[in-house]
Amino acid sequence: MELTPHYQKEIECLHCKKKFKTTKLRSKFVKVEKQESDFQPVYLNNEANPLFYNVFVCEHCGFSFTEDFTKYFAPGVKEEIQEKISTNWTPHSFGDERTIDQAISAYKLAYLSGTVKKEKAVAIAGLALRTAWLYRINKNHEQELRFISIARNLYSDSYSSEDYAGTQMSELRIIYMIAELSRRLGDREQATRFFSRAIEKQSSTVEPKLIEMAKEQWQLMRGEKEKGAQ
Ligand SMILES: [Zn+2]
Repeated sequence: MELTPHYQKEIECLHCKKKFKTTKLRSKFVKVEKQESDFQPVYLNNEANPLFYNVFVCEHCGFSFTEDFTKYFAPGVKEEIQEKISTNWTPHSFGDERTIDQAISAYKLAYLSGTVKKEKAVAIAGLALRTAWLYRINKNHEQELRFISIARNLYSDSYSSEDYAGTQMSELRIIYMIAELSRRLGDREQATRFFSRAIEKQSSTVEPKLIEMAKEQWQLMRGEKEKGAQ
């Protein structure tokens, strides 16, 4: 039998514990063409874009999550999920191949679920950022910026509360993201502050690539300013 790019996997819902099917992509079909300055991986073929399948949507209760969600539910949270999500949910499946619009809906459901569950700001920021990337693919600039703004503000919350500790995100990466997303939003003041904060870390960092990216993007922003001033 010939291998297809997509396959189905069974997932257990973190909330209601029932099982449901979700689609995943075989990595051998996933081809990255390049990476954008906010780490969006650009794939050669959007038919095989793994971003579409990061979110697991429970068809039974509507609770939606990613592998980054913790298994822990604080007291009272399960009741709140029931009230804010499950009672409004008409059971339907997101388990097959997804269109980009279905992928966006899945991220929005995960954003709501993560917010109600009080996941870390850094995790919810990642959901908002990926929603922005999908709107970028769809060339919907207005919605892209709306979600870039949400992500930037959540990364700022994460930076202040240091809730990124123990995750894949380092302090330098959070600083870089705040700077770069601010640049994309046209918030030069915040972008300048955080690009320089990133570059200040160049003697102590183990991530020299990020320092280089910060320098490049800061230069790019300065160029844009000069152009604008002419
Ligand atoms: Zn469920």
